[in-house]
Amino acid sequence: MIAYEDLRKVNEPFFQEYTETFQNTLQSGWYILGNKVNDFESAFGNYCGADHCIGVASGLDAMILAFKYFDFDKGDEVIVPSNTYIASILAVLHAGLTPVLVEPDIRTYNIDPLKIEEAISPKTKAILVVHLYGKMCDMAPISEIARRHNLRIVEDCAQAHGASYQGKQAGTFGDFGAFSFYPTKNLGALGDAGAVTTHSAEAANAIRALRNYGTSQKYMNDYIGYNSRLDEFQAAFLSIKLKYLDAITTHKQRLAAIYFNELKADFTLPLLQPGFDDVFHIFAIRHPNRDNLREYLLQQGIKTEVHYPIPPHKQKAMDGIFRHDRYPLSEEIHNTILSLPISYGLTEEDIYRVTETLNNY
Ligand SMILES: *Cc1c(COP(=O)(O)O)cnc(C)c1O
Repeated sequence: MIAYEDLRKVNEPFFQEYTETFQNTLQSGWYILGNKVNDFESAFGNYCGADHCIGVASGLDAMILAFKYFDFDKGDEVIVPSNTYIASILAVLHAGLTPVLVEPDIRTYNIDPLKIEEAISPKTKAILVVHLYGKMCDMAPISEIARRHNLRIVEDCAQAHGASYQGKQAGTFGDFGAFSFYPTKNLGALGDAGAVTTHSAEAANAIRALRNYGTSQKYMNDYIGYNSRLDEFQAAFLSIKLKYLDAITTHKQRLAAIYFNELKADFTLPLLQPGFDDVFHIFAIRHPNRDNLREYLLQQGIKTEVHYPIPPHKQKAMDGIFRHDRYPLSEEIHNTILSLPISYGLTEEDIYRVTETLNNY
């Protein structure tokens, strides 16, 4: 059986170092907002090329805190891709803002820069870009639109640790980058964790306060804050894994190269473009008989996933929020997309077995 993602296998190379840092953190007697969090924040900020990094409890919280910081008026609009994971849209809603969906470019699966301007209204305040599957959005035209209309940019980087566009990394283009370290992500913790990146010292201080009850100094509350802290254990594990993130990315890129070289033309492969360095958090292909293909692979002992089966605008939770007839490209993607195994826990031989099986379909 070829697993889609075996987290034990992914983390096994780090068990020894994890065990040592666990002992060390346990013995320190300091479990929330201490040196391990500070160290990880500097290391990850440095890695991304962001001036500031603030550890928080999850990727969803990273986005909510970013939107809370802007202090927009209730009902102000944020442009969000229609083809995304539900968390991006939830963040906008939880911040009291109105998400306005924009269709993707069907070749990249990311928001189509050409469709953004027609969605801008006098209430539009920000664009939430999502670098889906480990490929960055086309940031040059998006940044230009934001500049022209005076819009803030938040980047959902949950699937794009280390991905870059024209030599610049995810999380450094917008006012904020929002990262998730959910265990399956390329930089995954052993539990929930997230981070916000920014170039602004003032914004960094505000996010630091917002994650901790709005406190700038102990028992001094400047904001209506949250409890969304990164804990010392997760920060300690993440600092270890960060040292290997480039190796993890390279491994996944090597597995992706096998798919690109071996798969026959029946499958729609991810788009490769000059200037984009993709990290393949997910390797998604498209096929008109997706469900049948998935079943066939399962029978051959190959597990796959669908990211995602139901588009956000059709989720029960979003009843009455979005029209159902406006996002055909997003629906086309949701109906045909299939995520192939590309885990750090898999070998090149595993992937050759997948390509051989796929080519026999
Ligand atoms: C995983 C993910 C999130 C949410 O991250 P959590 O840490 O689970 O809150 C948000 N957006 C995208 C695109 C994701 O893949």
